Amino acid sequence: VVRARNVHKAFDRLEVLKGIDLDVAPGETVVILGPSGSGKSTFLRCLNHLEAIDRGSIEVDGEQIGYRWHRGRLEALSERATTLQRRRIGMVFQQFNLYPHMTALENIIEAPIGVHGERRAEAVRHARELLDRVGLGAKADSYPAQLSGGQQQRVAIARALAIRPRLMLFDEPTSALDPELVGEVLATMRDLAGRGMTMIVVTHEIGFAREAADRVVFMDGGHIVEEGPPEAVLGNPQHPRTRAFLGRFI
Ligand code: ATP
Ligand code: MG
Repeated sequence: VVRARNVHKAFDRLEVLKGIDLDVAPGETVVILGPSGSGKSTFLRCLNHLEAIDRGSIEVDGEQIGYRWHRGRLEALSERATTLQRRRIGMVFQQFNLYPHMTALENIIEAPIGVHGERRAEAVRHARELLDRVGLGAKADSYPAQLSGGQQQRVAIARALAIRPRLMLFDEPTSALDPELVGEVLATMRDLAGRGMTMIVVTHEIGFAREAADRVVFMDGGHIVEEGPPEAVLGNPQHPRTRAFLGRFI
């Protein structure tokens, strides 16, 4: 689903990504670990072209993200074409970013109707199905302020799923939650992974990585320094930086 090659990204003179290569197969769940500032969020943002990359290439479903080939040169896509590409990619952030003046249901149907032109009746039917799936069938008419943080984050996941993505990106989805609410969100994500969704998850939840990841990627200083099955990377890390990082969690 994803094919990233030699991805470079700098902010002014600060090099944040220094040549990231990552392939993600259909149905795979990849967990990205790494210290603060290592470029994890920047890489996720590049994947759906919230940031333009400086060098390298990113393909999702075989299509260049943000660019197209035109007369032998890569040309930036229009805002409209980029929006269409993002249709394939759902994103969930640390902050739930729900619209406070809209109910859970309205939050979920907003993009399918507003951006993708889906019919209201179909968008509502799908939204109710997604709310059931994240365990919030009874909360369709609640406003974000009436929901717990964990419930808001599950609505945010349902909203991301409403665009029928081929790929889901999660950036520290449980970091802003009270500890007792983390489990319900991770359970929702595990369920999604089990249903065969392709997912890239940045998280510090080592337990989730161990149980739900097909592959763990450790990033440091804008590089992928180590990757492999969770048992290997978490249980027997080869790189000193990985060992030092994981040491904090043991
Ligand atoms: P964390 O675990 O703290 O979320 P991260 O691995 O997600 O860290 P990034 O958010 O990708 O790290 O940031 C990597 C570096 O890029 C940091 O030094 C950050 O300050 C810098 N950076 C990120 N976004 C921008 C921006 N829009 N403009 C300038 N610098 C930025
Ligand atoms: Mg980050």
